[in-house]
Amino acid sequence: MDLTIHNAINDKTWRPINIGINNGKIAVVDEGSIPVGARSIDAEGAMLSPAFIEPHFHLENSVMPEYVNKSGTLGEAIRIAEQIKDQLTAEDIMRRSTIALREAILNGVLWMRDHTDVDEVAKLDLLDAVVAVREKFKHVIDIQIVAFPQFGLADNPESVDLVWQAMDAGADLVGGVPHREKDMDKAARQIELAFEIALANNADIDMHVDETDDPYWHTLELLAEKTIESDYQGRVTAAHCCAMAAWDEKLFQRILPKLVEAQINICTNTPVNLVIQGRESGHPTRRGIPRVKDLLEAGVNVTCGQDDLQNMFYPFGNMDMLSVANFVAHTAHMSSEQEIKEAFDMPRYRAAKVLGLDGYGLAVGAEANLVLFRANSAADALRKHHERLYVIRKGEILVQSERKLTLSPALPFEYEHLEISG
Ligand SMILES: [Zn+2]
Repeated sequence: MDLTIHNAINDKTWRPINIGINNGKIAVVDEGSIPVGARSIDAEGAMLSPAFIEPHFHLENSVMPEYVNKSGTLGEAIRIAEQIKDQLTAEDIMRRSTIALREAILNGVLWMRDHTDVDEVAKLDLLDAVVAVREKFKHVIDIQIVAFPQFGLADNPESVDLVWQAMDAGADLVGGVPHREKDMDKAARQIELAFEIALANNADIDMHVDETDDPYWHTLELLAEKTIESDYQGRVTAAHCCAMAAWDEKLFQRILPKLVEAQINICTNTPVNLVIQGRESGHPTRRGIPRVKDLLEAGVNVTCGQDDLQNMFYPFGNMDMLSVANFVAHTAHMSSEQEIKEAFDMPRYRAAKVLGLDGYGLAVGAEANLVLFRANSAADALRKHHERLYVIRKGEILVQSERKLTLSPALPFEYEHLEISG
């Protein structure tokens, strides 16, 4: 074996796991001991997880703390982003993206889906810059690019042309933002146009959907209907879905079965939307978070994204998907053992479904894309800010932590953690 990992615990069963890696793939998985490979890691009881996934991000405007959003509203954030869009150079985007990707990889994120603005101001310039970023980092992270027509499509023939061109210029998916159109009819037109482009390119669709506190907007329903009509089940993702928090029960119950039938993936960008939504909704404040538990219970695939890092939309972020999942667990009231496991799976197995990753996990034959960190349960994984001891991609060690914690023997800490069963 090229590399073996010993004395780890399994991320699903919490039982011992030892694995052997050959040619970048997992070749052996065993609860008992295995022969030591050419290189070996003693995990000393740390958890072994498949690497994390960031399913919704914006590289081109990441790491911009200099652009301050005074009102804190989404409207002002979009205005600032639109004003500076044509001043962003490829070099600047590379510099900022490098900072974001460095943080992501240090935190064990080895896949990302990026939404890149493609519109009459950005033209294809931002896309070209992000394609160059993808190329530079292709040996350390897989990036899918969504062509994101930020100004809408219904009344924007130039944006429509540009999205068609983007699919030949390196974009993998068709994006959208139907609630930025004038009304629901125009939103339906945008969705129709996006499907035309996606179908012609055999591409998946990932849209910013109903990112507003206004319950008038329920373009998620239109998206689900069009998905079913186009036989695109499982290939469409709706991100944000903030208005769902403002819909009345009747509207939610009408739309929910359509989401299930369309097999729409929902991506909540909880940390960002907690900060940026609800600014103008009055009291009680709306928080802009979709009904995660109700969606999961109905069988909808829900994942979570960091979305923004230190910019006009959001001054925080750390590219740590465990931290993002922790926000979801808190906001969506996910506190039972099963619910916490679901939250832990959101930036992992559930996001893998969104990105269409085959063979994600710790099985023989899977690519060895792995993270080791000291946790002994799903709750433990989410509650602590665990250092990533190792990040491994295709069998190659990308990150290794050498830091050693030293405690004085005078500290009466003889019990490190409680043993858990099951
Ligand atoms: Zn976004």
